[in-house]
Amino acid sequence: MSDLVQSIREKYVQTLDAIASAAHSAGRAPESVKLVVVTKTQPLEVVRAAIEAGVTTLGENYPEEGVMKIQSLREFSAVEWHMIGHVQSRKAELVTGNFHLLHSLDSLKLANRLNRFCGEAGSTLPVLLEFNVGGEQSKSGWQTGDETLWPALRDEISAVIALPNLQVRGLMTMPPLGGTAEFSRPFFQKLKRLQEYLSTQFPNANFSELSMGTSGDYGIAVQEGATLVRIGTAIVGARQYA
Ligand SMILES: *Cc1c(COP(=O)(O)O)cnc(C)c1O
Repeated sequence: MSDLVQSIREKYVQTLDAIASAAHSAGRAPESVKLVVVTKTQPLEVVRAAIEAGVTTLGENYPEEGVMKIQSLREFSAVEWHMIGHVQSRKAELVTGNFHLLHSLDSLKLANRLNRFCGEAGSTLPVLLEFNVGGEQSKSGWQTGDETLWPALRDEISAVIALPNLQVRGLMTMPPLGGTAEFSRPFFQKLKRLQEYLSTQFPNANFSELSMGTSGDYGIAVQEGATLVRIGTAIVGARQYA
């Protein structure tokens, strides 16, 4: 094993252990949480090393960069690729043909385009709905900071659920950046409450997945019910902007 594979492997295993203890502390089964290793901006050698270290689910933020990596690493056919970043509508087609799960579906417009491209290709795309639970103007996701806004979301969410080629599986959020992990807890709790609200509003839909928690706060996210955590720097190191 190369030094790079070895060092990623150590951090990957430590992270899985920390997820398992957070799950136990909340009375949850460790297997109920899936670790998505985020490799945005990381060069191909790092992504390859992560796969060789045992990583099975990778998260990318930028459609072109992700597709380039997917195509270059096709030999690893068991790996699952998740799109976790904002997708512009004109990039929708890159996502439908290449990714196993879109975490960041943030508008009805994007949903309609994804649905159309899936229809043309005869495929379906599993998606999570991204919600902006912190209420920051600059962030993507449906605005849900203030709970009085929730009823107004019903029409759009209902339209997304009705699209035949998208499979809604749950919710995702990226809370405001805070100093400490505890700072994120109320935002994770809010996403959980929103999951309960949507489940009562749409009893036939599936909102079972909760994608929340990154390097700094995933333990808290797991305690609050995360089923997918998205972790980059804690496993593959600092991002490598060109
Ligand atoms: C970059 C990114 C992550 C990973 O963040 P780390 O702090 O490196 O763990 C998770 N989710 C999203 C949406 C991201 O853009």
